[in-house]
Amino acid sequence: MSPTPVLSSCVPFPIEERTLIDVTQKAKDWAIMHGAAMRSKANFSPDALNFAPFILTPSSFPRKEFEKAKELQTIINQLMHNVAHDEEFLTTTLAETIKVDEFTANLFNVYKKVLANGFGQQISLGLLRSDLMLETNCVQMLEKKKHTPCAYCCWKQVEINTIASGFGHLGPISKDIQSFVMVELGHADKLKNMPENTALSGLCGGMIKAWEVYGARKSVILFIIEDVSYNICDQRFHEFYIREQRPEIKVLRRTLTEVHKEGKLGPNKELFLGEYEVAVIYFRAGYEPDHYPTQDEWDARYMMECSRAIKCPSIHYHLAGTKKVQQALAQPEMLERFISDPEKIKAIGQIFTGLYSLDDSEAGNASYEMALKEPEKFVLKPQREGGGNNVYGVDIPDALRKMSRVERAAWILMDLIQPPISQGYMIRPGGKSPPEIVDLVSELGIFGVILGDVDNVICNYQAGHMLRTKLSTANEGGVAAGLGALDSPYLL
Ligand code: ADP
Ligand code: MG
Ligand code: MG
Repeated sequence: MSPTPVLSSCVPFPIEERTLIDVTQKAKDWAIMHGAAMRSKANFSPDALNFAPFILTPSSFPRKEFEKAKELQTIINQLMHNVAHDEEFLTTTLAETIKVDEFTANLFNVYKKVLANGFGQQISLGLLRSDLMLETNCVQMLEKKKHTPCAYCCWKQVEINTIASGFGHLGPISKDIQSFVMVELGHADKLKNMPENTALSGLCGGMIKAWEVYGARKSVILFIIEDVSYNICDQRFHEFYIREQRPEIKVLRRTLTEVHKEGKLGPNKELFLGEYEVAVIYFRAGYEPDHYPTQDEWDARYMMECSRAIKCPSIHYHLAGTKKVQQALAQPEMLERFISDPEKIKAIGQIFTGLYSLDDSEAGNASYEMALKEPEKFVLKPQREGGGNNVYGVDIPDALRKMSRVERAAWILMDLIQPPISQGYMIRPGGKSPPEIVDLVSELGIFGVILGDVDNVICNYQAGHMLRTKLSTANEGGVAAGLGALDSPYLL
């Protein structure tokens, strides 16, 4: 295998030690003081924040691929909207998976029950995030000319999120931290290569629009939250933005357990929490089995799904975001079911990397054998969200051998994407001073907003981005999980 290409850095490295120590301390303070922060898992206090880990200077990203990702987002939004409304497709695609994956089965049961009893609301709000990585193996597909390494990269989709797509605040603020650092370092002239990021206003704009469409002057927006929100700044800045723009819209935060205790449906399926009628439900929790410790939380989810409130996501949108659905969509000719324009089908088809079913079928058994033979080429994924659930490379054979043929249907197999490396300083709470230069890889998320029902899309737009960067040796890079760091693209 050829060595991994290294993207050039936006400023000369290393940064002189005294300057580095000073600018790092300033940037940490800047981050805390502008809410680029999280609650600490190790030393939790509801009254304190740590700055979120960040990369000191922006990481290089090919402009062409960045623009392409932004352009494709509205097609991806429409695709997911169409998938979410295709009952037959969701049912057949998830049939084997729900036999063995209890959590997806529970979600699916909610869906079936709502289908049987009628949706209280036809309109859904999608606040989506399509995550992607640059793939250096595209080198082989392109003619090798005298280009910078990144000229050979093309991007591939890692996954699409339809629930709790976070970093609407931390995305834009990452650019602001790094802009501050670039100016401090005397590179104000380079700020023009750092693209603007409208994620927060775009996502909140979607919620406000949904509130308007619901059309009840005194109604509220409800955020469904975890028992403890570590990623509190990201959530609160959404709330504060909505309040600032529209002081008449109250935002409530409740766990699923609290909704079960306090919530009830009115005569026209209105969702009431005490005196408040809920217009929009924004799920920042509910994507993990732990968020449903008892049947009460499932009952709360079902009640909300039956209600007139506009859900972000509604249950069918949630199911459309499963890894199994992503895998099914990447199969030949599948996109034709959802998109009519051949140009768009071609464009979307190119972003999929190899995705394989592990069902107990001929194709599934062939992918099983393929994974055992060359495990280092793959990632094994269950139907879970929130990071930390996948199995990588050499660990795959053991994991697969422990499963029965039937159990494998709960998982999908995916080609391992091999991104180019960039270098930078990763700044984390309690980290070394001065920080050292490390090898990094990045994952770009593009936000999309779509609001509408099966026949009528009220709005569909691309809404900014976020960049997360991790050590090149780490499998996963969740920032809240402590592995990744906030970053923003420097377009080359
Ligand atoms: P989740 O829904 O839990 O975020 P992901 O599919 O995004 O699941 O996987 C988590 C992380 O694993 C990603 O952020 C990325 O760092 C890594 N990852 C996932 N799929 C791939 C892949 N095909 N190639 C390389 N890394 C991957
Ligand atoms: Mg996800
Ligand atoms: Mg992910």
